[in-house]
Amino acid sequence: MKRTANIPVFVPHAGCPNACIFCDQRTISGTQQSPRSDEVTAFCHEALAGLPKGIQKAEIAFFGGSFTAIDRGQMIALLEAVQPFRSHPQMAGIRVSTRPDAIDREVLAILKDYGVTAVELGVQSLDDHVLEQNRRGHTAKDTESASCLIKEFGLELGHQVMLGMYGDNAAGFCRTVERSIRMVPDTVRIYPVVVLRNTQLHSLWQQGKYQPPRLEEAVELGAHALQSYVSAGVRVIRMGLHASQQTEQNMAAGVYHPAFRELCESRVMYQAALERLSERPAGEYTLTVSAGATSKMVGQHRQNVVALQKAGYQVAIREDEAVDYLKVILE
Ligand code: SF4
Repeated sequence: MKRTANIPVFVPHAGCPNACIFCDQRTISGTQQSPRSDEVTAFCHEALAGLPKGIQKAEIAFFGGSFTAIDRGQMIALLEAVQPFRSHPQMAGIRVSTRPDAIDREVLAILKDYGVTAVELGVQSLDDHVLEQNRRGHTAKDTESASCLIKEFGLELGHQVMLGMYGDNAAGFCRTVERSIRMVPDTVRIYPVVVLRNTQLHSLWQQGKYQPPRLEEAVELGAHALQSYVSAGVRVIRMGLHASQQTEQNMAAGVYHPAFRELCESRVMYQAALERLSERPAGEYTLTVSAGATSKMVGQHRQNVVALQKAGYQVAIREDEAVDYLKVILE
């Protein structure tokens, strides 16, 4: 059971000087107000007091924009607003997300002073050509420098990578994953691109110059990334965008599947099972998976079990708490 929750504080990035081609912050800015300090304090107070049963700790997470790129006074006011909770027994830390080029020693010293424990970088890609085509306004080197500094300050490092970016391909995405892993992030979020209306990416899609990956392709790449990060000891804390009414209303194309992570987990487990079974003759076997992972091993609409059957393997599945996440043991 999940023991740590997020208390998300949304910080709209109305003042973002960038214009990433996939982002609709410009069109929605003005409709969203930044939360006032007293509202943030009240919200966190309420959230900590009402943590669901079974959740022992919570992290306050400033999401939505580039936290360290917003007006400095506003950034400090938001951090001040959560100071009363630093000594709360159920408080697990303060998390912020930002752009790689909005990190330097000065801002990290401020974050550290205010008790921030984790910084997530919107890496998206580690290919400069892809970053340029998507008008990200920073380079892969910026991500490397920021990652090094975050670690030097003793903060938890998070990466956010995007799958299916304009100008990228499968091999390029895999290189981004490998390069990200070499920076030793503690956590990662993996997002397939969603085409939002009123963005430049939307125009490119309408003109037939961009095609987001289909679900099958996104699952294949997502599974590869998941497996790579997990093998490297990186915690994958999110796969796919959170369900939101706004995204549902604004999206024109792309992968926006509520069970994207589960589909990727299921693919990783299928590949692991097939790899082990292919060393054996056709027949009946028992696969052992981690606690609660049977449905992922079986696959949506039993697709893993059916595919293994077609390959000549009739499988029974059992769970064992001693088995690690995504692992498949063949007895
Ligand atoms: S930096 Fe972030 S908020 Fe700004 S345009 Fe790019 S994605 Fe949007």
